[in-house]
Amino acid sequence: SIDFKWLRDNKEAVSANIINRSSNANLELVLQLYEKMLNVQKEVERLRGERNVVANKMKGKLEPSERQKLIEEGKNLKEGLVTLEEDLLKLTDELQLEAQCIPNMTHPDVPIGGEDSSKIRKMVGSQRVFSFPLKDHLQLGKELDIFDFDAAAEVSGSKFYYLKNEAVMLEMALINWTLCEVMKRGFTPLTTPEIVRSSVVEKCGFQPRAANTQVYSIDGSDQCLIGTAEIPVGGIHMDSILAESLLPLKYAAFSHCFRTEAGAAGTATKGLYRVHQFSKVEMFILCRPEESDSYHKELIQIEEDLFSSLGLHYKTLDMATGDLGAPAYRKFDVEAWMPGLGRYGEISSASNCTDYQSRRLGIRYRPSEQSSSNPKKGKGNLAPTQFIHTLNATACAIPRMIICILENYQQEDGSVIIPQPLRPFMGGLELIASK
Ligand code: AMP
Repeated sequence: SIDFKWLRDNKEAVSANIINRSSNANLELVLQLYEKMLNVQKEVERLRGERNVVANKMKGKLEPSERQKLIEEGKNLKEGLVTLEEDLLKLTDELQLEAQCIPNMTHPDVPIGGEDSSKIRKMVGSQRVFSFPLKDHLQLGKELDIFDFDAAAEVSGSKFYYLKNEAVMLEMALINWTLCEVMKRGFTPLTTPEIVRSSVVEKCGFQPRAANTQVYSIDGSDQCLIGTAEIPVGGIHMDSILAESLLPLKYAAFSHCFRTEAGAAGTATKGLYRVHQFSKVEMFILCRPEESDSYHKELIQIEEDLFSSLGLHYKTLDMATGDLGAPAYRKFDVEAWMPGLGRYGEISSASNCTDYQSRRLGIRYRPSEQSSSNPKKGKGNLAPTQFIHTLNATACAIPRMIICILENYQQEDGSVIIPQPLRPFMGGLELIASK
């Protein structure tokens, strides 16, 4: 549940945050709708009370005329209530829709500004110097016969692709290697449903009903295709109170991801860089609030370890306020060098969403007696429940990883070396060569 009272009491800070994050949220409207909803709620309560009074009176001994009067009164009250309850439902829906746009608050260290204001946290490796004319991944893929965009354009549309031959093995190897690596670090592997209810998508902070949405909705249903495994994983524990001893919960989910890429016209759309469907292994952590900052650092460290093991040259960024999206409190992106594209491209993103998703998804935990510093105790002397924090981070998003491997490991003869850690997952294959 969104804490509207908190939004109202912290109006100035919330407004400043909305501006810093270049969000189009309308706080005034949200607070107006909230007040309106409270008033209607009060009126509903009042009418329910009156209806109970009438019902109680009816239980006594009454003159027929008095009974008739009460029946009339009860009927009027019921009709009024039905209308008001309908209004309340509509108002609640409108409020939720508007409130969805309000972004999470922001970590104090996050740089304020647009994309260009993001701060480099770390730079690893350096750009490979080529002693021969280099090719981009599209040309390499064509010559090595490992993907087909033309057939996919006919069958599905633009921004779809078939992987073939060694590229298929490379995708599977990347997935398996990544899962093995994150399992060693205590993550539970998952595969997930790839169609989910729109309400769950909204509760995770995405907007399937927005005009320029990234989400594919399924016609004639209340379901969507997932844009990321973060959604079904976030939903696993919705509407529950977790025992503190279960935390942190660490998941690594493999799924396909589907994105409309609405509004992406004009951005780098070459080849595999921006496609409508791709595979990804996503890490997701549910933890106690006081631990989310340190798990955020753990997640970015895991990403860096994985990308270093593959020998990539990359930089890690502390993303600026304008580039955080709604759910993230802080976000670290990794951008890797893609020689054929001649630039760095985002390959992963690690976000601390604090309680933004857990409030909407209804995921709480009950602190144990020892760890609760809160002197206020809830029912039965138990500590009151609190919302957990959620974090998500890309372990491996396949298409951009394939770009990095092909473009960075290409040889003068047009073949591509397979990075060492992936070879055992590809039957020992060391090289993708022309057929
Ligand atoms: P996001 O969930 O938007 O933070 O994306 C996570 C990662 O998925 C990005 O860092 C990219 O590596 C990859 N990715 C996102 N969108 C696309 C796309 N349309 N095509 C290919 N890869 C993508």
